[in-house]
Amino acid sequence: MNYFELADLLFPNTTETVSDLEAKFPKRDLPSEAKVTRLGPSPTGFIHLGNLFGAFVDDRLATQSGGVMLLRIEDTDNKRKVEGSEEVIINSLSYYGINFNEGETLHGEIGNYGPYHQSQRSAFYHIVAKKLVQEGLAYPSFATPEELDDIRERQQLEKVVTGYYGRWATDRFLSIEDITQKMEANEPWVLRLKSQGDINDTITIEDAIRGELKIHPNNADIVLLKADGIPTYHFAHVVDDHLMRITHVVRGEEWLSTLPIHIELFELLGWQPPTYCHTAHLMKMDNGVKRKLSKRLDPELSLEYYMEQGYFPAAVREYLMTLMNSNYEEWRIENPLLPLEDFEFTLDKMGHSGALFDIEKLNDISKNVLLTLSEEEILDFLISWSTDHRPDMTDLYEKHRTDLLGLLAIGRHEAQPRKDLLYAAQIADFIEYYFDEKYAIVEELPERISVEDALLILKEYKSSYDHSLENPEWFGWLKELSESFGYTPKMKLFKKNPELYKGTVADVSSIIRLALTGYQKSSDLHSIQQVFGKGKVLSRINYLINHLEQS
Ligand code: GLU
Repeated sequence: MNYFELADLLFPNTTETVSDLEAKFPKRDLPSEAKVTRLGPSPTGFIHLGNLFGAFVDDRLATQSGGVMLLRIEDTDNKRKVEGSEEVIINSLSYYGINFNEGETLHGEIGNYGPYHQSQRSAFYHIVAKKLVQEGLAYPSFATPEELDDIRERQQLEKVVTGYYGRWATDRFLSIEDITQKMEANEPWVLRLKSQGDINDTITIEDAIRGELKIHPNNADIVLLKADGIPTYHFAHVVDDHLMRITHVVRGEEWLSTLPIHIELFELLGWQPPTYCHTAHLMKMDNGVKRKLSKRLDPELSLEYYMEQGYFPAAVREYLMTLMNSNYEEWRIENPLLPLEDFEFTLDKMGHSGALFDIEKLNDISKNVLLTLSEEEILDFLISWSTDHRPDMTDLYEKHRTDLLGLLAIGRHEAQPRKDLLYAAQIADFIEYYFDEKYAIVEELPERISVEDALLILKEYKSSYDHSLENPEWFGWLKELSESFGYTPKMKLFKKNPELYKGTVADVSSIIRLALTGYQKSSDLHSIQQVFGKGKVLSRINYLINHLEQS
């Protein structure tokens, strides 16, 4: 068969050649070690932790090497397209400090290797497809779903591997006359690869994360272009990543099984394949069983979850880095104050089997990361988070800025700092008692204190409270006051002879905490009082007195 004739029949309007494309998208002018990576999300409206994980790997590779990281929108599946999802992708990733230097942006596309929407790259796919046809490496297939079913049934009967390949791929053998006739009859066709691979061979491929992979070559005549001329993932990936001069393809391990197809395509086109980096799935422990994080079962897979809770981007980045590189935690212990970006991320330190995601670990890391942030940074983040998630609080946060900075600072600057702060929603709850609008007596009186005693203690506290006392003097005074009501300041004595006392100074402190915060437990009382100021301390004491008198 004259393949050039066939190619013209299939692609009559495609006049440009692959050489034209090569000239239009020349090798990038970058230092040899520079890595070019890309994220290729489908605009389905759902962006998850796995995408962020992959994007972070892309980002580290490109940024560390002085390369390029681009955003390509893989929008060939119109049915799954969701309006506005490109903004969601860009904004969500940027929130976590991941910014692309090429490709789709909020203000349109930038870069010389576009278009960056697959839906606008049809001409390129057709040019490359035409070359494959001209070389006898691709052909139109008119097989209907029924015919394909029939082939599968016969293969099952013969107990051979199912699929469209080798002698089963009957449309390989159509003559140009058959093809012309079918096209004239408007029979729909797809373009298939004429695979040259032998499934019995074994080839070795180097994956930058997994090391040497021994795989069987592809032998299936997979679809390159669908009946509407739109490319399949396999074909688009190869064409795009070559023409965009991508050096490192970071993608999930779900693509490993089709890697032989991609390798064959690169080979047949005479192109150098990129360095593949297949990342492990994010897993979680569920009742002792390790399983993949699932969109349906696990809200923590969605990035929205972290935004709603108000996890600090720095904390999420820090956690993801511990998942990404096994030697990161060690580095962090040695370099507690250096920015994460100073760590040299490497692909060979990535895990091959599922990366175990653990929200408790994220929380632990978050507590430590927050200790490295200033109260100003924490409050500013809280305020910006609140505009979307607690809009009733934003103005209050602004108005009481100075006091809130004081509250947030309590216990954070000691040799053994308190790790009270975790994420915005938790911090909002943690400081809620400060606001008269929110303050309420939430908990009960301590067990060992009667309402009568509580009233006596609170009244005495109110009348003799000296706001100018330093912490030790104030606490000395509180001990005396406790003792005068039968609550011993000596915990040991109480433990030995509980029947001799009503309780301890701790019970008395709990009443004061209850008055000031509505809870029996709180941050350091003296510090809270100093932030509150005398007027607010007394009015809260009064509030509890009234509350007890009325109940
Ligand atoms: N559009 C593909 C996906 O969303 C991209 C995979 C790749 O990075 O090659 O899974």
